[in-house]
Amino acid sequence: MRYAVDLNALAAIVGANNVSARQPDLAAHSIDESYVAPSLPDAIVWPDSTEQIAQVMRYAYEHAIPVVPWSGGSSLEGNPVPVAGGIVLAMYRLNKILNVNEPDLQVTVQPGVIYDDLNAHLRRLGLYFPPAPGSSDVATLGGMVANNSSGMHAVKYGVTRNYILQLKIVTPDGRIMEIGSRAKKSTSGYDLVGLFIGSEGTLGVITEITLRLMGMPEQVASAVAVFDTLEAATATVYDAVRYGLDIAAIELLDAGTVHVTNVQQGLSLREAPTLFVEFHGSKAGVSDQTAYMQEICNDNHCLSFESADTPEQRSILWAARREARNSIKLYHAGEVLMSGDVCLPMSRFGEMVTFVHQVSTETGLQIYAFGHAGDGNLHTEIIIARDDEAMARLGNQATERIVRHALSLGGTIAGEHGVGLAKKPFIEQEHGAAVDLMRAIKQALDPRGIMNPGKIFA
Ligand SMILES: Cc1cc2nc3c(=O)[nH]c(=O)nc-3n(C[C@H](O)[C@H](O)[C@H](O)COP(=O)(O)OP(=O)(O)OC[C@H]3O[C@@H](n4cnc5c(N)ncnc54)[C@H](O)[C@@H]3O)c2cc1C
Repeated sequence: MRYAVDLNALAAIVGANNVSARQPDLAAHSIDESYVAPSLPDAIVWPDSTEQIAQVMRYAYEHAIPVVPWSGGSSLEGNPVPVAGGIVLAMYRLNKILNVNEPDLQVTVQPGVIYDDLNAHLRRLGLYFPPAPGSSDVATLGGMVANNSSGMHAVKYGVTRNYILQLKIVTPDGRIMEIGSRAKKSTSGYDLVGLFIGSEGTLGVITEITLRLMGMPEQVASAVAVFDTLEAATATVYDAVRYGLDIAAIELLDAGTVHVTNVQQGLSLREAPTLFVEFHGSKAGVSDQTAYMQEICNDNHCLSFESADTPEQRSILWAARREARNSIKLYHAGEVLMSGDVCLPMSRFGEMVTFVHQVSTETGLQIYAFGHAGDGNLHTEIIIARDDEAMARLGNQATERIVRHALSLGGTIAGEHGVGLAKKPFIEQEHGAAVDLMRAIKQALDPRGIMNPGKIFA
């Protein structure tokens, strides 16, 4: 135990059944989905109201005990791993959709609502919250706001940040505040909502989220195009965006990733660089867009082009993309996945993918490359044998080369997964002296340094 947390004091706030220091509960909150080493907290608390969170924060602030907000635990950079111990504030009970404001196309939710559950609820109203992370069945709205998550629809609809209007927050010293407004635009004061989006639990606790919604498109159409070379596939992405296609998703899988999805999902796709494309709009519109896309793919000498416009056909076509990371994880069961999430200006995406393959060849490491090509967001998975320190060192060097190369091309170290622990070593390199400004903001909002310590920057 690193902190002498008074379980009775916490039980008096949330009830004895909603506090635990039992080993299995601590272990379950010592990891996320990354390769970052586990770190046990001292206690877990499951609050069910903003007021309870405020009281827990007042207790923690008074005793200078670290607090780590925890939603779905699906992060890939160690974001919620409690490296300093302390209290994990788990959001599982805060899972209610509080109000759907249909006339204004807005919804207010608690942070523990799961992305897919929200959209299942909204579907009957013809509404939709678009960012669509690959982890949509586990990622919660709290975690999505705190990581500024996005996914394959970002190319058309933007990222979580583009939808958040208002937040209820609890400050590290336990004050409750509403920041932002339900108005569609505002120039009133500093953008505190913007500050909390992507703050990875380091500034305060988000307890309610009001976000704007979109209407569901009348028609969705999908296509899958296979190419001989990565260059042809990435040139197609560039052309499709450059020539103004209204793409809702354009995703790339390299040949290695297609291979593992074939094996794990029982598919029989051609094992070559593949693009997965989606269009949203009117029936006539998506049909025109699909035809135009086929023309662009043909111009880039695609080996095959297959389209679908029923949900069943689309689901079969997209199975490989949807399950890409899970397939890699299953195929390499027992091994460690080092995830990467660089994001590049669109014109440099192709050369970034080529560079990753070059690093793989030079190091002998298996590296999978796939991602949200239309945004220039490339995911990589480096495979490391468990407990092989030499290989882990090689993996870290490969990550460093990939990240440095992305920065040299004008990119960022984190397109959507956040910085957490795993990308912390590169934050200064990306932001230089601006990291001092970030530290000053952290110090102003969290003077005792209790909110998710050790993350983003040292
Ligand atoms: C298979 C797979 C695919 C993925 N695909 C994507 C993808 O396509 N796009 C993408 O963006 N991410 C993806 N991810 C990463 C991850 O799922 C997302 O970042 C997700 O939004 C994290 O949400 P969570 O609820 O699991 O949050 P957690 O992991 O629990 O927490 C994330 C961060 O937010 C903080 N936090 C949590 N709740 C609160 C709160 N209420 N107040 C303040 N801070 C809080 C935590 O302290 C932590 O720093 C993927 C992960 C997996 C495993």
